[in-house]
Amino acid sequence: MISIDGSKGEGGGQVLRTSIGLSLVTGRPFQIKNIRGKRKKPGLLRQHLTAVLAAVEIGGARVHGAEIKSDSLQFEPGVIKAGEYHFAIGTAGSCTLVFQAVMPALLKAGGVSSITLEGGTHNPFAPSFDYLAKTFFPVLRKMGVNIEAELIQPGFYPAGGGKIRITIEPPGKLSPVVFEKLSGARFLAKAVCAGLPDHIGVRELATIKKKLKLGEEETELIRYSEHGPGNVVSIFVKSEQLTETFVGFGQKNIRAERVASRIVGQVRKYLEVGVIVGPYLADQLLIPLALAGKGKFLTCKPTEHTLTNIKVIQQFLDVGISVSRTTDKIWQISL
Ligand code: ATP
Repeated sequence: MISIDGSKGEGGGQVLRTSIGLSLVTGRPFQIKNIRGKRKKPGLLRQHLTAVLAAVEIGGARVHGAEIKSDSLQFEPGVIKAGEYHFAIGTAGSCTLVFQAVMPALLKAGGVSSITLEGGTHNPFAPSFDYLAKTFFPVLRKMGVNIEAELIQPGFYPAGGGKIRITIEPPGKLSPVVFEKLSGARFLAKAVCAGLPDHIGVRELATIKKKLKLGEEETELIRYSEHGPGNVVSIFVKSEQLTETFVGFGQKNIRAERVASRIVGQVRKYLEVGVIVGPYLADQLLIPLALAGKGKFLTCKPTEHTLTNIKVIQQFLDVGISVSRTTDKIWQISL
């Protein structure tokens, strides 16, 4: 039985999600203590519990300790079944993070699966729906996965109420990918105003337009009158090889111009490093590459999420992952 300490490294929900996902694909049981041990409210929140229960259903697993606030679990994987699944988090917890937990199993299932998730679709500190659709899924397609995502309705913190559907057809074998330097970057900025006045999105886009010198056709304002409240603004950096996505959220008492300027700051930092894989994609790319058994990418200084994910992956899979600094700002991660 593999033993995981959920308070080590980053000490958040990703340690649990990676363990669940890789336990299902390797058939190796695990126990975890101190779940989310470095978070203010440790233990299982609704989003994490939904991920555990989704994994139990998709992977025919048995689990002890799957309760709200539980700080430890024992998880015994079973047989993964492709099929039609539907899970509702019941709060604004992130749908995309529930998907993150079961993705490895769906990548190894014997056929096409369709998974509908209800909760938050655009959450801070999680991949937004657009991030999955525009950045992460195209990477999976390059690896041979047939995958589609549909935003049925958006859901923002704290109201939730979002819904997404993902259809995934795994290949026989995942193909490795290599991502190096960025070339030919173009931008698209998109602001979403759900149940909030349009001027928020208009001001965000005007700020981005000015700072990145974009034309009118490179910006888009999307309004939802019946959902929300929520405001999210994304900048998509399209290069020849991939689209990276940078996201910011409107907050009370923070001016729209400031929200937009912060994302422009992230984009500029990304361009300055000059590599395709940004900081979030780096940690998310590790599992598909580890399942492919091979791959390589350049990225910025690895985050604690990336370093911790490597350690958890290596507890389940016999895969060498090396992290080396190649220049002042660029690191190479290879498997
Ligand atoms: P907690 O740590 O409270 O349990 P959590 O379950 O939300 O929170 P984390 O362990 O913090 O999980 O993992 C967050 C995941 O979301 C990581 O894979 C990270 O790359 C991803 N992520 C965070 N912010 C962004 C962003 N702006 N764009 C894309 N992905 C993001």
